Amino acid sequence: AKRVAPGSHVFFSQEMADEVQERVRISNALQQALINDELELYFQPQQQVNDNQPLGVEALLRWHPPGKKPIPPGHFIPIAEETSLICDIGDWVLQQACSRIQRWQSEGHQPGRVSVNISARHFHSANFVSRLALLLQQYPACQHRLTLEVTEGVILDNLQESRTRMAQIKALGVNLSIDDFGTGYSSFAYLRELPVDELKLDRSFIQHIDKRPQDRAIIACLLDLARTLEMSVVAEGVETEPQLATLAELHCPAYQGYLRARPMPEAELLRWLVE
Ligand code: C2E
Ligand code: CA
Ligand code: CA
Ligand code: CA
Repeated sequence: AKRVAPGSHVFFSQEMADEVQERVRISNALQQALINDELELYFQPQQQVNDNQPLGVEALLRWHPPGKKPIPPGHFIPIAEETSLICDIGDWVLQQACSRIQRWQSEGHQPGRVSVNISARHFHSANFVSRLALLLQQYPACQHRLTLEVTEGVILDNLQESRTRMAQIKALGVNLSIDDFGTGYSSFAYLRELPVDELKLDRSFIQHIDKRPQDRAIIACLLDLARTLEMSVVAEGVETEPQLATLAELHCPAYQGYLRARPMPEAELLRWLVE
């Protein structure tokens, strides 16, 4: 056990108790938020690097408690992920995304593919695939328009089961993307045996790509890997013209980032798409 100064454990346990209490409070409020319709999907465009043509959008969750400032997902998703609450939230997100895809299709909007983030517990939950299949029945326009983003951690949690699930998801006409690619500590060997369509290169690699030859070399290498494996690539977190220019030099196909578009509410997205 770690040595602590006499008496300090009292302080630590009080702090820990406060922390637990805060998490319970957020978790309860979030459960209520789901019922009271305080959650909203924002959408961030993804574009082609060479000509800025829109390719699709990533759905990103926002929580607007009444009379308070909106809470970013980094503050509540990790708490929701500790319990099955993340499955309820994830189901809500998927249902919302699918109903949007269906409506946009019928109204003639062309946002391209819609990517949705899926947490590990949700992905591995019982009936995940059959619930997804039901959604696709309810919203048939989603076939070939929906992409699920999972992190390496989600897959490596249980590689055997992930392989089965991913094949079933592909069979539904839903694409699979690896989020935050390259940030884990694993080798890339698992990619050989999984039906992955897309890699999303984490912002941490993109941030200094125009200044650090090391980062540029890593990205060049990952792009090569993706080409060989016939996977598409989206560079995340592009904020500057020099970053985008470097991605163009490296023939990275797609990007998303504050440089061209922040995550935005649906109405704003539909205006953005016609501009
Ligand atoms: P992520 O999936 O890696 O999403 C990308 C995050 O980077 C988003 O933060 C996005 O707003 C932000 N971003 C995009 N472009 C830029 C840029 O140019 N610069 C910088 N600095 N940031 C940029 P956001 O919306 O706060 O989401 C944070 C994380 O919360 C997401 O990371 C994802 O892991 C999680 N998340 C968001 N929505 C959902 C959801 O519906 N379900 C689940 N399970 N997780 C979600
Ligand atoms: Ca993502
Ligand atoms: Ca990401
Ligand atoms: Ca991330």
